[in-house]
Amino acid sequence: MLSHMVIVGGGQAGGQAVETLRRRGHLGPVTLIGDEGLLPYQRPPLSKKFLAGTLARDRLLIRHAEYYAEHSIEMSLGFAATRIDRERQRVEIADGSHVDYDQLLLATGSSARLIKVPGAELAGVHYLRSFADVERLRAELVAGSRCVIVGGGYIGLEAAATCRELQIEVMVLDAADRVMSRVVSPWVSQFYEAEHAKHGVQIRCNAKVSAFVPEAAPKYAGSARVAAVRLDDGSEVRADFVLVAIGVSPNDSLARDAGLACDAGILVDEYCRTSDPRIFAAGDCARHPSIHYGIRVLLESVDNAFEQAQSAALNMMGIATVHDKVPWFWSDQYDLKMIIVGLAQGHDHAVLRGDPATRSFSVCYLKEGELIAVDTVNAAKDQLGARKLIPARARPDPRNLADPAIPLKDC
Ligand SMILES: Cc1cc2nc3c(=O)[nH]c(=O)nc-3n(C[C@H](O)[C@H](O)[C@H](O)COP(=O)(O)OP(=O)(O)OC[C@H]3O[C@@H](n4cnc5c(N)ncnc54)[C@H](O)[C@@H]3O)c2cc1C
Repeated sequence: MLSHMVIVGGGQAGGQAVETLRRRGHLGPVTLIGDEGLLPYQRPPLSKKFLAGTLARDRLLIRHAEYYAEHSIEMSLGFAATRIDRERQRVEIADGSHVDYDQLLLATGSSARLIKVPGAELAGVHYLRSFADVERLRAELVAGSRCVIVGGGYIGLEAAATCRELQIEVMVLDAADRVMSRVVSPWVSQFYEAEHAKHGVQIRCNAKVSAFVPEAAPKYAGSARVAAVRLDDGSEVRADFVLVAIGVSPNDSLARDAGLACDAGILVDEYCRTSDPRIFAAGDCARHPSIHYGIRVLLESVDNAFEQAQSAALNMMGIATVHDKVPWFWSDQYDLKMIIVGLAQGHDHAVLRGDPATRSFSVCYLKEGELIAVDTVNAAKDQLGARKLIPARARPDPRNLADPAIPLKDC
């Protein structure tokens, strides 16, 4: 009998999984259930070219509609999967229908973390996770208007750069003492703070938001709009609109309600299998054991969604495939391409490689002498070197790392 493969979630991981199933020869039925009502699409352009209005909508799509029809992939779009009945091997959908599965992949991604302060519900307070979010935000993108971005992570900063391209005044507020503090070294944070300042973005760190303040006299009853952001020191920053970009939370409630093991994400093994052997998970929603680093991780990146979904699809087909990749991640801001290879957590030494003033440099992270991660800014060769050295568990001499004249791959 040919197994029915069902995928819940039509994002990067879901789109990749169905493609892998067909490319690797699965001949049985495949159904993808997505709540967004759109074909699987890429999110990175949502804070970059698509937000700027320079990328057409259909360029977001991972595959065009014809692909799914030609490959007999049943698309159930526009309604969420609401329940997994593990005993009957059935997924229930919000429109009242259901789909029976032999193997199930959860690729439900993550959702923008909501801010819990008074005024969070005011019109003009936005998030940036989906196509629909961009459509709502687009109406606000008027040259000369004032945007306050809450959160100086990569999404907040990419949106800041895009807003500046559109001649919008931008202030970024970050509760930490430097931007992108969760993912990069202080050298990289300082560099990006200076670059944003050059482009006219005001950045305030150690700034904790306590409320969004409505306009004094709303134009229409019940349509109060945000007019300012209040900080916990009592000061206020005027805003025509606000973008909240304070991180994401994994969408694991469907799995949790079905009794699958979860811990801030769906727990999977190295074969992307959950605590139910017929159910797999991949992408932003899955917490997996990183064999290379010896820790459990939940990675929010296209690379991970892509690679893990491929491994999950193969395992669903019975082709045992361990998901064990050194991750990488990119962020585009202005003309700067940052690529982070590996995971820096737990490092005991960091080496600056090159001069940030040249706008091309890297930071190498070591743990007990082993190179575990590299942040690169406009440094493509270092990025390629890092992809070679880190999986090989190289132990480069820190003096060589600090010398940009020595190619990283030869360090
Ligand atoms: C603005 C933005 C910019 C980004 N830029 C970068 C970047 O530059 N580089 C990078 O590496 N990464 C970037 N990312 C992160 C990257 O896009 C994510 O890591 C990736 O999309 C994860 O893929 P996924 O399939 O796991 O989740 P998603 O792409 O979020 O897809 C999950 C899908 O499942 C749906 N879903 C959830 N629950 C249900 C349900 N119960 N029933 C049906 N459907 C459901 C969701 O609505 C969604 O459509 C960015 C993300 C955003 C939002």
